[in-house]
Amino acid sequence: MTLDQPDTVLDQAQKAAETADVAAYLDARQHLIHRERSLRLDAPKLASLSAEEELANEILLKLRTQQLRSLPQTEGDLASSAASSGYTTFRDEPFYRSKLAGAFADGPLPDIFKKMPKGANLHCHLDGSCDARFLLHLAATTKDLCIQSNISIISQQDLFKATIKFRVFPGAEEQYAIQHPKQGATTPSIFTSSYNPFDWIPVTVVRHRFPFPYAYLAKHGLDLMSPTTPSSPPLAFDSWLHTLITMTPHAGGPERRTSSAAWGHFLTTFGVIEGIIGYEPNFKVFCKEIMLQMARDGVRYFEARVNFLTEFMVRWNGELTLGHLDWCRIFLEAQAEAKEQLAQEGFAFDGARVIYSTVRVINNEQLRASMLDCISLKTKYPDLIVGFDLVGHEDPGIPAKAYLPVLLWFRQHTLALGLDIPFILHGGETLGDGEAADENLYDVLLLGSKRIGHGYSLYKHPILMDLCKKRNVLIECCPISNEVLGYTASISGHPLPALLANGVPVAICNDDCSMFGNVGLTPDLFTVFMGIESLCLSSLNVLTRKSIEHSQMPEAQKKTSLLDFDAQWAEFITWIITHYR
Ligand SMILES: [Zn+2]
Repeated sequence: MTLDQPDTVLDQAQKAAETADVAAYLDARQHLIHRERSLRLDAPKLASLSAEEELANEILLKLRTQQLRSLPQTEGDLASSAASSGYTTFRDEPFYRSKLAGAFADGPLPDIFKKMPKGANLHCHLDGSCDARFLLHLAATTKDLCIQSNISIISQQDLFKATIKFRVFPGAEEQYAIQHPKQGATTPSIFTSSYNPFDWIPVTVVRHRFPFPYAYLAKHGLDLMSPTTPSSPPLAFDSWLHTLITMTPHAGGPERRTSSAAWGHFLTTFGVIEGIIGYEPNFKVFCKEIMLQMARDGVRYFEARVNFLTEFMVRWNGELTLGHLDWCRIFLEAQAEAKEQLAQEGFAFDGARVIYSTVRVINNEQLRASMLDCISLKTKYPDLIVGFDLVGHEDPGIPAKAYLPVLLWFRQHTLALGLDIPFILHGGETLGDGEAADENLYDVLLLGSKRIGHGYSLYKHPILMDLCKKRNVLIECCPISNEVLGYTASISGHPLPALLANGVPVAICNDDCSMFGNVGLTPDLFTVFMGIESLCLSSLNVLTRKSIEHSQMPEAQKKTSLLDFDAQWAEFITWIITHYR
């Protein structure tokens, strides 16, 4: 009898039951588990581990158990018996609660994850990729940056009702000082009843007159923004701004219970950030800072979705005329500077490329115009632009099917021009089953997308999963984003294990780490490792290595990058054994 076939195994178990043969039953059980696990994405790797890798795996799994048990179960039916039952809290906790509980803080396991080589970050939106604290720094230090509100902000509730925008107007600070030589409580700012909605006021004025308390202390007693507990008006202003540009829970805002409520706030964060980074000098330091942060986190390469829906940023002289070609130029200038600095600091960095993105709210005509724009950028910067994508909230967004004539035209047109601009599309970022956003997955694959952004609902599609395996289409999985945006209550409800179990190629990505108060890929990789029992260190090696394999790097660069990554990983394994054995 062969035990390769699962139903044969069931027959053996039935026979074992008839004779109460525990050993035969356990044998059948072991075969069934083994058979199923052989389909996993990480199975080939796990079948060929070196002795060192085995040892490092053991060390890491032991540390995970310790770390999980160190997190107290403070509520629910297992609270009193948690310590004795070994029941742990991380897996069914929302991300922000785990963060508040210190699960991501220093300790052996978080330290190991910070040091881990991360490969490539294949799914990140440029405007959502910088440490939010750096944006606060930019807002506080950019000369002549002004703030605008659509209402006078008189009460604390108004703080979270107002639509806030930023923009640089050269000379604004000087002009304000001339107009208001004696500044006092009644001098116009967005916090006075005399404020004319939509007037621009220098941030430096508003920041020093912020009349409300620090945003994060009241509710949680802990601060997710910074380790200090300041109370001065400028720092209280910063905490408010932090609530506007991140998803961090705070006392003043409504609790966001649904995915659409989360998206409602999420989309507004981009409008606030836009004015801070959309200024020529700031855009350059912003791009450079992202590259520094990623590389210092162990991300050696990334492909950023850049949203080209807005036509212009503000030029250094205040004119709203900085177009898309300039954005690309600045991105490359920032990259050159970042590479030089990172080389000095000793961090590996293969650079970054751009996936041209527009938002799935536009019509076919506008999409065609975006595609022509993408083609002109690709012609000027052939090594920089590596794909095309449609982004935004997929459930209410226009489905791919509605864009088909233009999407197909783009393939035909770029082929005729001899340009390689593959689709790298978002798809299935939805809880739906059979809705338009779920059906986008069919189009994403039929359109030949190189990878799938999120693919959250892919696990409901056996044939599509099979196609991903056969055609080597990788899923860009963004676990923390999916949770914060309301697709799952915690990591334990995430469909990633289903994809891994089916052998679907996956890489872990961070989507918009800025909005989630994160930096780099460490938090997402840490979350999946802590949250999914079947993952070990070598599974993480598979996930991170896949990210480089499925990047749009030119083949020669990819080959070198993979060799470097393998060397980094081998060093990492040795480092774990040396430090934690
Ligand atoms: Zn995305």
